[in-house]
Amino acid sequence: MSTNPRAVDVLNKDSLIVIAGAGGFIAGALTRRFRAQGFARIRAIDKKPLAEWYQRVPGVESLCMDLSERANCVRACEGAAEVYNLAADMGGMGFIERFRVECLRSVLINTHMIEAAWRAGAERYFFASSACAYNTDLQQDPKVRALKESDAYPAMAERGYGWEKLISEMFCQEYWHERGLKTFIPRFHNVYGPHGTWDGGREKAPAAICRKVIMAKRDGDDTIEIWGDGHQTRSFMYIDDCVDGVDQIMHCEDLVATPINLGTSELVSINDLVSYVEEIGGVKLRREYDLDAPRGVAGRNSDNTMIKRILGWEPGTPLKEGLKPTYAWIEQQIRDRAAGKRTVS
Ligand code: NAD
Repeated sequence: MSTNPRAVDVLNKDSLIVIAGAGGFIAGALTRRFRAQGFARIRAIDKKPLAEWYQRVPGVESLCMDLSERANCVRACEGAAEVYNLAADMGGMGFIERFRVECLRSVLINTHMIEAAWRAGAERYFFASSACAYNTDLQQDPKVRALKESDAYPAMAERGYGWEKLISEMFCQEYWHERGLKTFIPRFHNVYGPHGTWDGGREKAPAAICRKVIMAKRDGDDTIEIWGDGHQTRSFMYIDDCVDGVDQIMHCEDLVATPINLGTSELVSINDLVSYVEEIGGVKLRREYDLDAPRGVAGRNSDNTMIKRILGWEPGTPLKEGLKPTYAWIEQQIRDRAAGKRTVS
């Protein structure tokens, strides 16, 4: 573990930490992390009813509020020392290619949250950006050159979702330059792990493939459907690395108002990903490629030169390792669903 300052080094244990989107995957894991570290005052917020949150962390003030409404953001940020905005209407390619308006409307969340955080006198503000903010023209070949931070401009972001991220990044930069609010802006590359969406249309490739392999095994099916030709490449970051990266970036004075990649640089094709999951499941399936399905850009990887230079750290969990607990957790979810128990997706 690196020795960079983290929340535990910078904040008092009774400072108020506000986490938006906490009913979802990454913010849920962040809430659990801070609570486990002994922070006594955490306010977790999501628009989903509490019963549908992926994780409920005991000892945390959990509120169901729609943060696209200004008044709710004001209420959310009252007394906050740090505000983490991870709330967004989002999902995998199947969702973001189809629901561009919903994705764009997340701009309301950040617009009201950052203003409310600034008015409340918060010390730091965090916005979860995305690799989808990068110029898509640079991602047309599966053998991509990894994306470095300057590749967002000249801008040609992913339609809908990516443009929302880019303009919200700009809000973060200008709130620092004009109003002195310290903002932190990692661009996440695909995140996966236990307690993430695994079914229902918003899931991303690692969870979807785990689910398909588990179901094929259970049903005695020998085929798996893959979106695209399987040659698309991506990098995938394990959730524990993601939340540790969030904590380090948020407390790094050299990264104020500076977009930075947060992802692994282990480039794999979707075909590789399927092989890894098959290995864990102990099966070999016949692959059927759906060339009409959403597939996103041809290739995308994270250039980690900047994060290594500034933090001396990068997310390090190999995909093969992180997939094991993810697979086991989804397998349990599928069993729970079959038994009529409540599940995440
Ligand atoms: P998630 O969908 O699991 O969590 C997002 C949460 O935000 C959901 O629980 C949703 O209900 C909540 N939300 C949406 N609209 C809201 C509103 N108006 N008010 C309050 N809550 C609202 O997604 P995640 O994977 O945890 O992603 C968290 C953040 O990270 C998002 O900003 C996302 O765009 C970004 N990101 C994620 C990935 C990834 O691979 N998961 C990659 C790049 C960027």
